[in-house]
Amino acid sequence: MTASRRNFTPKTVERLTLAAEPWLSCDDCFAQIDAYIELLLADAPHANPGLRAHLSGCSACYEEARSLLLLAAEDDGVDPDGALRRLDAV
Ligand SMILES: [Zn+2]
Repeated sequence: MTASRRNFTPKTVERLTLAAEPWLSCDDCFAQIDAYIELLLADAPHANPGLRAHLSGCSACYEEARSLLLLAAEDDGVDPDGALRRLDAV
């Protein structure tokens, strides 16, 4: 094996992790959730690490996102299964 390995210090790892997961408040989350759900339903690129991190840590917002997704899918007459899987794929 010739692959070089970088030695990250714990501090570096911590900084990288924090940069990838900006913490959102529930209000921030709520402000973005409609657009996010539209992207999930459309199977469009929906990278949003901050929102993802919030949803995986906040069951209230996760439940809200789930029920909004189901409502939106019903409104649009589309099958919510794929979007639900994308919502759950953390
Ligand atoms: Zn929340």
